[in-house]
Amino acid sequence: MGLTGLQIFKHLPKTNCKECGHPTCLAFAMALANAKISLDACPHVSEEAKEALSAASAPPIRKVVVGTGDNTIELGDETELFRHDKRFFHPTAIAIAVDDTEDVAARVEEINNLNFDRVGQHYEVDMVALVNASGDPAKFQAAAETVVKNSKRNLVLISEDPAAMEKALEVAAEKKPLIYAATADNYEKMLELAKAKSCPLAVKGENLDKTAELVEKITVAGYKDLVLDTGARETSRALTDFTTIRRLSIKKKFRPLGFPIIAFTSKEDPREEMAQATVYIAKYASIIVLRTTDKAHLLSLLSWRFNLYTDPQKPVQVEPGLYAVGEVTEDSPVYCTTNFSLTYFIVQGEVEATRIPSYILSVDTGGTSVLTSYADARFTGEKIAQDIKKTGLEEKVKHMKIVITGLVAVLKGKLEEESGWEVLVGPREASGINKFAKANFA
Ligand code: SF4
Repeated sequence: MGLTGLQIFKHLPKTNCKECGHPTCLAFAMALANAKISLDACPHVSEEAKEALSAASAPPIRKVVVGTGDNTIELGDETELFRHDKRFFHPTAIAIAVDDTEDVAARVEEINNLNFDRVGQHYEVDMVALVNASGDPAKFQAAAETVVKNSKRNLVLISEDPAAMEKALEVAAEKKPLIYAATADNYEKMLELAKAKSCPLAVKGENLDKTAELVEKITVAGYKDLVLDTGARETSRALTDFTTIRRLSIKKKFRPLGFPIIAFTSKEDPREEMAQATVYIAKYASIIVLRTTDKAHLLSLLSWRFNLYTDPQKPVQVEPGLYAVGEVTEDSPVYCTTNFSLTYFIVQGEVEATRIPSYILSVDTGGTSVLTSYADARFTGEKIAQDIKKTGLEEKVKHMKIVITGLVAVLKGKLEEESGWEVLVGPREASGINKFAKANFA
């Protein structure tokens, strides 16, 4: 159990200097007790106090790192039960399972190609989960070598046989893979391997209680870079286990369960598998091991992950300014929209599809959409007129016409008055841009 705010307060300097961003030491203590802030935020805490407060200042869910150098994945270190309370920090890593009985090189090549660009973001599958399906340590080692040679992706090594794990680590330890898994039967040997190679270790119990018991044995033996698997493969049981782990870690500071979670999908139908993975991303897996490599399904899953792990208080936005689509000239049409990322990229895609080189003026609305920014007066005739000047648009085109979306046709009069430009009211939806462009600019 963690310390209360008052217990923490006793160890603080009590100068109320505000350098931690809180108005008083007591406010800081309360935030620390609720895991809303790290002890490091106070630069005046003595070493003695740090030691006393280490339990309270440790994150409720330990941060565990897989991989090395620039290619690391951070798991855990979450502080919230609900995204809207603050945000989730370390996105669920997506791993694709590869059996050592398959054509490993071909499958790895397939995984390497699972890259996506969407609304200005790059998504990719994060890990290869190599399964010792053959039961043969030599085969597992050869497969691990193939993955190491052919992929930059991080690695989960899946075998409960310490001999097979030892062989695979001989060729793959430099990647700092996640070792999966220590069980009640093999944990001493797996722990030895994890310690020797400084690799994180997954702990697999038969259920939640057994997992916590096993974690306690391993942490007592001095190893804490752990990832939990409660053995649940059925969606409802996994959901119950994962939610219990998160609640106990965050609300009760129950240390034996304060670690990231690894989840395995069990559905064979890719759509059902995606539904299962969607649940696990929301509640609260740090790694999901999947089978499918279907791009359409993975793109929707990665988009879901992206949305969940953005900061709900900061809309995803593009840099405001003037963008050229194609080889623009002084006769090119000009479209105007907001800098909300989703809106901008949808408009850009539709403008590209017209095959008419065009400008897009992306107005700084703080990353909010057209109607939201219109409603709170961030997308106004005055603002657009200012951006026309600021971006030098007047020197770039000679026709002085600008297209606004039909959603804010009401801005036409003010914008014409402020800018001196002719305002064309375009379609309400971006999907109408092609037809509009053909009718007006072809
Ligand atoms: Fe108190 Fe430290 Fe915050 Fe200053 S920085 S107000 S001493 S907790």
